[in-house]
Amino acid sequence: MHGHEDQQAITPNSPDITQEKRSVFNAMLKGAMKKCPSCGQSRVFSGYLSVNPVCSNCHENLEKIKAEDFPPYVTITIVGHIIVPMIFFFERNDPLGLWTQMALWPTLTLLLTLLIMPNVKGSIIGLMWALRLWEKSED
Ligand SMILES: [Zn+2]
Repeated sequence: MHGHEDQQAITPNSPDITQEKRSVFNAMLKGAMKKCPSCGQSRVFSGYLSVNPVCSNCHENLEKIKAEDFPPYVTITIVGHIIVPMIFFFERNDPLGLWTQMALWPTLTLLLTLLIMPNVKGSIIGLMWALRLWEKSED
């Protein structure tokens, strides 16, 4: 059930809104390049997908930004939009044959997913950082 949509009321008089406005586009761009959304200098990940707790350059707290399972969801959507048109293209022209295609598409989907996942996750971290989304979801 989705009963929480109406609860994010905008409160212009809240004392938290005195902070500087952050550029969503710039933060997402830095994140997509796997850089810190704040300074764009240091790497945002310490491993393949594990976010550095604190930026080693600007000391921005990145640990509090929890992207959860949103990055895989977005990644699959993007990969689907790349792979599905390719499948339809080769379906019409069929230079590959059925067995090649049955091996090719799942492999290509998996590789592409693994390839762009860090960039997608980085840009989502950037988005959440720019919008300060962690401050609203503190449990
Ligand atoms: Zn930084």
